[in-house]
Amino acid sequence: MSQIKDQVIDKLKSIHITLNGKKSNIIDEKFIDDVVIANKKVFLSIKADKSNIEKYNQLKVKVENELSKIDGLDKISVSLTSHNDNQLDKTQSNKSSRKGIDLVSNIIAIASGKGGVGKSTTSINLALAINNLGYKVGILDADIYGPSIPKLIGESKKPKVSDEGKILPIIKFNISIMSIGFLISEGTPMIWRGPMVISAINQMLNDVDWGDLDYLIVDMPPGTGDVQLTMAQRVPMSGAVIISTPQDLALIDAKKGLEMFKKVNVPIIGIIENMSTFICPHCNKETYIFGKEGAEFEAKKQNVDFLGDIPLEVVIRETSDNGNPILSSNPEASVSKKFLSIAEKIVSKVSVSSSTKNPNIIIE
Ligand code: ADP
Repeated sequence: MSQIKDQVIDKLKSIHITLNGKKSNIIDEKFIDDVVIANKKVFLSIKADKSNIEKYNQLKVKVENELSKIDGLDKISVSLTSHNDNQLDKTQSNKSSRKGIDLVSNIIAIASGKGGVGKSTTSINLALAINNLGYKVGILDADIYGPSIPKLIGESKKPKVSDEGKILPIIKFNISIMSIGFLISEGTPMIWRGPMVISAINQMLNDVDWGDLDYLIVDMPPGTGDVQLTMAQRVPMSGAVIISTPQDLALIDAKKGLEMFKKVNVPIIGIIENMSTFICPHCNKETYIFGKEGAEFEAKKQNVDFLGDIPLEVVIRETSDNGNPILSSNPEASVSKKFLSIAEKIVSKVSVSSSTKNPNIIIE
């Protein structure tokens, strides 16, 4: 594995450029952001400047061609991430000329090791909770295997397109909503979804009029496959929140999710334990089916913050099925307060890290 990485770095070093009259190569000039190699696949991004995009696209093709000469690589994925102070062109980008996702201040991925753990339910309720805290919020449902946001918000109509050709997100519960489910019909066979998803994701990032959002919550597909890795690399994320049930947390699934984000340098904001205890709808008694505080212990062991737990409660399932999430249908419910307290933790963690770091802006 490391041998392949060495070969990749050597190949990249062989790509020469002339910078302000000085001959150099793209590694020494720090044009390459991340190089991730997993299962004979290489993912990397080139720091690019939008005002000089032609030149960077040529560079991208050159990188792809050079890397394809290495034996033993099954896949090469090169993306461009925007970088305003790149040396090829010092032109500053101006906020009003940016589009799509560029005006979004913070992008937060909601991820899980596997499906069915309540990732989408948590995503929508967290989006509503952050909005309740007074922020402008959007949600992007990128779960190709089961886009459930349309159902959770009780909406299936196709989004409209503006006169400028931008896709307008659905506005409901005071948040901007876009789902891959609005673009790919339910009947689309799974085998077509892989290739379609990358172009659909690009469309959702570049062609949707997200506006000046404070937070965009991305409901990621479950697991750690190519789509997730590409997505994590193409979207300039402020951080990731991992959703886990108590049983999975100690298992490999959630850990793999953590590792994936670490590999692509996306900070882990923390873990939320869903379905932690059972609250009886008749007597309101709380039962710790899987024991108490195990998740917090596991989170500590894995060196990540524990953001809180959400109980298994029938009202969460009912409100989700009715297309009216608990945060909107009953913001005073005790579980809604739990979502609000988790939202506060997320916002305070993200605002601390974004004040010390400039988010990358994606071109592709
Ligand atoms: P995922 O996005 O991880 O596949 P979903 O959010 O679609 O999972 O949740 C799966 C099912 O579990 C849904 O029917 C949802 O209503 C239900 N569910 C999720 N979290 C809870 C909870 N805390 N209490 C009760 N039901 C829940």
